[in-house]
Amino acid sequence: IEVGDRDSIYTRPRHPYTHALLSAVPEVSLTDGQAGGRERIRLAGDVPSPISPPSGCRFRTRCWKAQDKCATEEPPLVRIAGNHEGHLTACHFPEEPTTEAREEDIVLDPALAALEEPGPDAGAQG
Ligand code: SF4
Repeated sequence: IEVGDRDSIYTRPRHPYTHALLSAVPEVSLTDGQAGGRERIRLAGDVPSPISPPSGCRFRTRCWKAQDKCATEEPPLVRIAGNHEGHLTACHFPEEPTTEAREEDIVLDPALAALEEPGPDAGAQG
């Protein structure tokens, strides 16, 4: 349903199902230790049968954005307007990018962040 690098998926999720999954991730504010303010999306509707999946988009029976087109046309996995290069989304009616709000929310695992920071020898040539 959605393919991309970690930063693009976490900061600019476009598929409704990705939004729902990320909304279930617990958040804690680093400044006050309280639970974060992201609104949890609770999916309603029927879980599709894997032996008889719905026509069109497989997520449409649980998607709050589904329209008629979603029942008749399977959305292609493509780069849609607003996606970073290499970020592909299969949705006819994707969510708006939420970069500004989400970038503030993302806290990388300190071990991963350390891997991404240039070390003291960065830029040095030997
Ligand atoms: S294609 Fe339609 S049903 Fe599927 S995720 Fe997008 S809006 Fe929802």
